[in-house]
Amino acid sequence: MAEPLVNQYRGRLAPSPTGYLHLGHARTFWVAWQRARTAHGKLIFRNEDLDYQRCRPKFVSAMYEDLRWLGLDWDEGPDLDGDAGHGSSFAPSFGPYSQSERRSFYLEAWRNLRDGGFIYPCTCSRKDLERSLSAPHEALHAAEMNQPAPQEDEPQRDDRFAEASPTATPGADDELPYPGICRDKIATAGEYDSPAGVSWRFKVPDDETTSFEDGYFGKQQFVAGRDFSDFLLWRRDDIPAYQLAVVVDDAAMRITEVVRGADLLKSTARQLLLMRALGYSVPAYFHCPLLRDEKNVRLAKRHDALSLRALRERGVDPAELRKQFAEAIEWRRGLMRG
Ligand SMILES: [Zn+2]
Repeated sequence: MAEPLVNQYRGRLAPSPTGYLHLGHARTFWVAWQRARTAHGKLIFRNEDLDYQRCRPKFVSAMYEDLRWLGLDWDEGPDLDGDAGHGSSFAPSFGPYSQSERRSFYLEAWRNLRDGGFIYPCTCSRKDLERSLSAPHEALHAAEMNQPAPQEDEPQRDDRFAEASPTATPGADDELPYPGICRDKIATAGEYDSPAGVSWRFKVPDDETTSFEDGYFGKQQFVAGRDFSDFLLWRRDDIPAYQLAVVVDDAAMRITEVVRGADLLKSTARQLLLMRALGYSVPAYFHCPLLRDEKNVRLAKRHDALSLRALRERGVDPAELRKQFAEAIEWRRGLMRG
């Protein structure tokens, strides 16, 4: 029996422990915190640690420490009571709050998408994709080939993870286009009892326009098959892809507003298609403008000098940082009273 959540604002902080958080993450997380508190809502900390090859335990504890140093707090999270996922009738829990412990949720969604005819197994190797994309008549967006793949902080080749990314270049934060080679295999999806062994892609409705109203940037529009293609849903190394994990968790944790970096605007369009396929309700969105360094390069986890850890060691006053954030971004925009 869940407590009444109707009209209650539920936001989230969803960093990935692949490095120390930097000023760009801090600003976006501060906005998320500020909006949740102003709306008298709840803030959920979600540890996006699915990518076991890149995530490190020391960065998990650093995320808590550094964000608390900045002055943020949260109401639910892996480091608070209730992470076991049981809760009580007085304090229901939406945990566990670390993605690595939520595999059963993702598997259930995978089964639903398989049964609904929304996804297909993809056996393309990286070489297959490069070959097909270099042939102009087959390429969906050959020009995008040279762009770094989605991940927020460090470009990663085959999928994106971690939500923290308030810092990437808009438009450059994208999955490699997929030319649809395996689309016909959608007929064989039912033969799979589990997603393991191949990767899985979501079949996008070609030419359909997906629009949403962003709390900061206003109306956004993306066309499936043009702005993005059949995106990864489950990775070949048997972990759910970023898009699936985020959508499943935001729904299960009853998130009402997603605050994150502007590099994820296009991902929001993908996620809306996924939510529709899964029958989820849609949260509000507030994408924060990206932060760049003095050379106009987007901040990344390699900007060590601008990590929260380094700023703290240099004696920077967190109150001064929060003041700068408040002056730099109209964080109140579109905020409804809580
Ligand atoms: Zn394929």
